[in-house]
Amino acid sequence: MCGIVGYVGNRDCADVLVDGLSKLEYRGYDSAGIAVFEKEKIVVEKSKGKLNDLVEKMLQGKKPHGHCGIGHTRWATHGEPSDINSHPHGNKRVTIVHNGIIENYKPIKEFLISQGYGFESETDTETVAKLLDYYYDGDPVQTIAHMIDEVQGSYALGIMFRDFPDRIYAVRKDSPLIIGVGENENFIASDVPAILKYTRDYYLLEQNEIAAITADAVVICDNHNRLVEKEVLTADWDIDAAEKGGYEHFMLKEINEQPTAIRTTIAPRIQNGMPYLEESGITGEMLKAFRRIYIVACGTAMHAGLVGKYVIEKLARVEVTVDIASEFRYRNPLITKEDLVILISQSGETADTHAALKLAKERGAATLSIVNVKGSTIARESDYVIYTHAGPEISVASTKAYSVQLSIMYLLAFELAYVKEAITEQRCRELTEALVSIPDNLKEVLEMKERCQFIASRLVNSDSLLYIGRGLDYALSMEGSLKLKEISYIHSESYAAGELKHGTISLVTQDMPVIAVATQSDLMDKTISNVVEVKSRGAKVTMICSEDLDVDKNVANHLVKLPKIDDLLMPLLAAVPMQYIAYYTAVLKGCNVDQPRNLAKSVTVE
Ligand code: GLU
Repeated sequence: MCGIVGYVGNRDCADVLVDGLSKLEYRGYDSAGIAVFEKEKIVVEKSKGKLNDLVEKMLQGKKPHGHCGIGHTRWATHGEPSDINSHPHGNKRVTIVHNGIIENYKPIKEFLISQGYGFESETDTETVAKLLDYYYDGDPVQTIAHMIDEVQGSYALGIMFRDFPDRIYAVRKDSPLIIGVGENENFIASDVPAILKYTRDYYLLEQNEIAAITADAVVICDNHNRLVEKEVLTADWDIDAAEKGGYEHFMLKEINEQPTAIRTTIAPRIQNGMPYLEESGITGEMLKAFRRIYIVACGTAMHAGLVGKYVIEKLARVEVTVDIASEFRYRNPLITKEDLVILISQSGETADTHAALKLAKERGAATLSIVNVKGSTIARESDYVIYTHAGPEISVASTKAYSVQLSIMYLLAFELAYVKEAITEQRCRELTEALVSIPDNLKEVLEMKERCQFIASRLVNSDSLLYIGRGLDYALSMEGSLKLKEISYIHSESYAAGELKHGTISLVTQDMPVIAVATQSDLMDKTISNVVEVKSRGAKVTMICSEDLDVDKNVANHLVKLPKIDDLLMPLLAAVPMQYIAYYTAVLKGCNVDQPRNLAKSVTVE
């Protein structure tokens, strides 16, 4: 959550900071601010609200002019969103921006007050700024190292010391931060899209490394002041990937990028028509040896894991437990050395998933992460990593990251089922081939946007919706329901279709539309009976099914018919109409599709 940008070079610093922050807007925020050296003085401008509110303020003549500074978009954790609580924080001598949470800020604040410090804001961040000032002895690195020893919690910090007007400092722990390396200019940023316009080269700052950044040098040392040599990484995402490219919203663009994202993700993992995960160090023999599999994730990634569970159990007959990361980490799970724990996270920075990874490692389980962002914390700390190649996902509501996570779940399931001899080589080839054809099938499904737009127009005035399905369709309907509520703010619930009559059907009236997912032939008759049940209680039903389903036209009010492919892979197609329906409903309601209220893209706090 929140975005940090810093710049040192020849350009107008305020412009670069605002531009960089605008590329991080997807992370969610409630206020924005910058600090720039005007000659020897640190000048701060900040404002509650959107980045545009800050820009407006600066247009009224309040723009700081200089070539070195830091910027921030805040997602409040301590103290309401307000001008005062906005970052940067500090005083004339030390000014900082912060992403994360300082857990022990209270005792530090009390101590600093006893030393005569005053506080303006309610933030935990201001404590760090004042603590740095307290320790400051003319040596910024030493000062930051002192601070690291005292502070508990998570932080990515951009820091300016008045005495060093040609540079900024950076340090991080458990919150992401990269250092962009340009020609006679350097940057810090929470994520790669913020720097892509200027450079593709960057360093990943590791836990508690301290960086001093001037226009022509980046000096990094550890917290014992020992120099650290680092490899420069090059982002393979191009600048267009982080722009809307003619689409009205990032979400719509990303929905439409799914065929390419899936193709790019699976291509390197298929050889001679069979799954091949060895580039990630994963062999069939190794997979076969695990007693049990845990899949741990949050939100949409957890829903991808649920589809994975159905597919792995169905094909490979291996027990899979799916857990919400924030539950897993506190429920003392029964993991052992014989288990494989799979962590799924788009950003690779999700705090709860990261904590689950640490727990799994402590217990000696093997860990495999499925992550989209190269070099992110979860990717680096797990034993094995399979990168999804979705490119940057900017919209807060995940779409293409979900489908690439699914495609990796499938490959894992095929490989495992094959090595366990639960399926024949021929079946494994058939399934792999069907997966390879998905991008083409998807192109056909992506054409159905008008149909989905029409259905959305029927849902937009509802207060509440039900999504129902059985088996894989149930796992999928959970994601459909989440997508709708997160961006359109319409309440919805997903329910196992057969479970309705045990309580929830009492909610069904003509005012409760139902979306039924029915793509699994073996469960079709059962699901159709459930559809009839809700329809006879007045519900308007949209049914998402495959084109070969021969249903009475009157079973549902609206039908979305998908190309017929292997049942097992239908979720990859059925996800699209659900994404479209959520998207168009949100658009019709006039919601901020790419940045829904109260949400942020990478959830780096617990
Ligand atoms: N905890 C800090 C605050 O509430 C930083 C939050 C953020 O990461 O934006 O101001």
